[in-house]
Order: sequence, then C-alpha cells, then structure tokens
Amino acid sequence: MPALTTPSLPSLWSATATPPPPTQPLDHDAVADVAIIGAGYAGLSAALHLAEAGRHAVVLEAVEIGHGGAGRNNGMVIPALTRAYPADLRARFGIVRGDRLARLVAGSAAFTFDLIRRHQIACDAVQTGWTQPAHSPGRARLARDRFEQWQALGADVAYLDRNETATLSGSPLYHGAWLARSGGHVNPLKLVRGLAGAAQAAGATIHTQSPVTAVARDGEGWRLATPSGSLRAAKVIVATDAYSDNLFPQLRRSIVPVRFFQLATAPLPEAVRRQVLPGCQALSDTHADMYFVRPTVDGRLVSGGALVLNHRWQPRLARHVAGRLARMFPALGPSVSFDYAWDGHVAITTDFLPRLHELAPGIVTVAGYNGRGVALATASGKVLADAVLAGGSSADLADLDIPLTPLAPIPLHGALTRVASLELLRYRWRDTQEVAA
Ligand SMILES: Cc1cc2nc3c(=O)[nH]c(=O)nc-3n(C[C@H](O)[C@H](O)[C@H](O)COP(=O)(O)OP(=O)(O)OC[C@H]3O[C@@H](n4cnc5c(N)ncnc54)[C@H](O)[C@@H]3O)c2cc1C
Repeated sequence: MPALTTPSLPSLWSATATPPPPTQPLDHDAVADVAIIGAGYAGLSAALHLAEAGRHAVVLEAVEIGHGGAGRNNGMVIPALTRAYPADLRARFGIVRGDRLARLVAGSAAFTFDLIRRHQIACDAVQTGWTQPAHSPGRARLARDRFEQWQALGADVAYLDRNETATLSGSPLYHGAWLARSGGHVNPLKLVRGLAGAAQAAGATIHTQSPVTAVARDGEGWRLATPSGSLRAAKVIVATDAYSDNLFPQLRRSIVPVRFFQLATAPLPEAVRRQVLPGCQALSDTHADMYFVRPTVDGRLVSGGALVLNHRWQPRLARHVAGRLARMFPALGPSVSFDYAWDGHVAITTDFLPRLHELAPGIVTVAGYNGRGVALATASGKVLADAVLAGGSSADLADLDIPLTPLAPIPLHGALTRVASLELLRYRWRDTQEVAA
C-alpha cells in the first residue's frame, strides 16, 4: 500500500496557520547521526531533543510538515489513553512498567505545553483542561473510578458531579465527568510547524518532499534512499504512525488506519460562546462512538467523527454532527453551520495501546496513538531521542517509559482495514443500550 496521500483539504488549520519554515527536498548524499522518518509531532520532537543534545538529526518527510495526523487533527491535548487506565496498564505490563507508561501519559499534556512555552511556539495554545463527561449513570461511576486512578498517580485531576459538569461544559446531557487540568487545545498545524522551526533553530535539518523508499544496511549503520538523494546514519527513528507505508510492511500491518473527519463551525455569536464550553475546555465524552468538541480562539467549535460509509461524507457528516452538537448544547439552536471540513487517518491498535518496537538493530519506532497523539506523540519523541542518546541497543529500548513489545502484524489486515468502520455500528448500538440502562 502506498503512503496515505489524502490531498490536504482546506482545513481550518491550513486556512489559519502561519507558513511552515523553509525546507528543501533531499537532493544529495547526506550523513547524519540520526535519521528520522516523518515530520509529525513524534519525528520533530525527537529531532528537537536530539539537536539540543548536540546530535545531528535529519528528518525526511514524504510530503510536507504536518501532512499526517499532526496537521489534520482536532487539536485536543489529552493526558489520557483512549481505553486504558492506570489499572489496565498495571494488569498488562506489571506495576512498575505499567505505572511508568501511565505517568508518561499523565504528564504528556504538561510536557507539550511546557515545550510550547519554552520554544515560544505560537499555536493558540490554551491550557484550560480536557474533560471526559459521562453519557450514562454507569459511565459516571466509571468516570469517578478513572479520576481516582489518575489522582492516585499524582495527576492534576478532578471529579465533577452532574451539576458541576453542566456548569463546566454548558451541556445538560451528562451525569458527571472527570477533568484533567493539564490538558487543553492547540491549533495542531501551527504546533507541528512551530516544532519544525524549533528543531531547525536547534540545529536539525528537515527535508520535505523526500519520501524514504528503502532502508538498507550500510556498515554499522543504515542508508536511507529517497527519489533524489540518500542519507546515511547510525540510528533511525521511524515516526510515521497511521501514515506508515510499505517501507516496513510489518509495521504498517500492525496498525489499522481509520479515517476520521473534522468540521469547524462558523464563529459563534458572543452570547452563545458564553454558554457553550464557557471555560474553554476540550471535551470528549464516554460514548463508544465518541462525541468530541473543542472551542477555538476565534470562537468556533471543532468537532467531527467517523462514518460507516464514506461516500458523500461532507453533507452526511455535517447533518450528523450538527444534530449531536444541538443535543449537547441547546444554546446552539437547531441550525449549526460549518465553514470547514477535512479528514485524516488515525492509527488504531488491537488493544488501543501505543507500541514501541525495534524494527531492526538501531531502528526504533513508536506508533498507535489511537487518536491521542498530540500530547503523547510529542512526549514519545523525547522518549525516542533519549533511547538513541542512551545508545539505542535492545537493552536501552527495554528500559523506556513505553514498554518494548514485539512487532505483531494483524492477521487479515487488509480485510480488517476495509471493514473497520463497520465497528461503528456496534459502538452506536452499545451507546443506545447504555443510555437506556
Ligand atoms: C482527524 C483526526 C483527529 C485527531 N484528533 C486528535 C486529537 O484531538 N487529540 C490527539 O491527541 N490526537 C488526535 N489525533 C491523532 C494525532 O493526530 C496523531 O496521533 C499524531 O499526529 C501522531 O503523530 P506522529 O508524529 O506519530 O505521526 P503523523 O503526524 O501522522 O506524521 C507521520 C508523517 O510520516 C510521514 N511519512 C510516512 N511515510 C513516510 C516515508 N516513507 N518517508 C517519509 N515520510 C513518511 C507522513 O507523510 C507524515 O507526515 C487525530 C488524528 C486525526 C487524523
């Protein structure tokens, strides 16, 4: 399968972001300490941290900075995983390793906002918190349990009862919520372009329009080929996530790329803004077919979702999301209109956990952020940089905050990818059962 080269739609982000820093395609035979494949959050954060540590890092990007999820996402900075909570991580990886991963996740939003502040990245960063409200009484009990788990780990979290949730969100729909105060939202394309600028300023080199087409052994290191050049490096970081192509076919087959859609409303009247997410938090609720929404600095809401069938997706999605938003926020009235619609692919893993793999000696990757990569991929970039700085051996990789696991291609991957969106039907059925319960 070729790289996912969905043409960039006129997203809100591409209409409002400052231009990317200047870059050129790789057009010669170059040498670096570390080669990084992919200019999203993970690759650029790794490049920045490696450059700050005095290593020459060269990023090769197939298309442009933020071409993948980094330039297309909703921009919520979320210090939590999609499904797994600290107890799940302990059960899966043991107390010590499970808690290390949980702490990385819990600290990932603060890490990202600190990085933004340290490098003065202008990306409309708003650290007002991220909240997960519960759509049923049973989910409210779970939300309290989740809050207690994160609190026990030292995370800056709160539990809100029904009234407090309505006041915080402006929505009467919910039975309670937990709030991660370190979360928030950004303009995601401004963030990834800003990270690129910070990495360049620290000494990293970025080549766009430079897809890596082959990786071959070269003495003790590796040689990466692009259409008009090559790059030799001792270590390689692969940061391609949902946009992984056939460069490492086993990696591509270990994640399911699921298409997600985003919509941005027109700017809301001031009186409505004061009633919808009045505290400017980002919100994704407990529906399996998740309702999510975040405000922007110019008074819009950005929401979206997945669809079972993707044909004529724009009008169908607009109706679907407008209905949801009207149910969530009566103050919006019945006719919500949208100025922008765009899409992208999210990397889903079978257990909804991110993965760290050694693809070959000296080649490392993290993938499978399951729709939670704004904070986690940015934090993982530092994990990857630290792994390389420690030497990058298998022993070094086995002692990171993300547990090292063997690469496990998903059986019947092609078929599963084609029918993945049908899973939504099961999610929606489950959601109706829970609300009725
Ligand atoms: C619609 C949508 C909404 C989302 N909303 C949120 C959200 O609100 N909050 C959140 O936390 N997460 C969200 N996500 C997920 C988040 O965007 C991703 O987890 C994150 O972008 C992953 O970052 P990354 O750096 O690992 O990979 P990406 O940002 O996907 O970057 C990978 C890069 O690798 C490049 N590449 C691939 N193959 C090659 C090759 N052979 N050679 C060179 N380059 C290559 C691609 O062109 C791409 O630029 C969303 C994703 C989507 C699509």
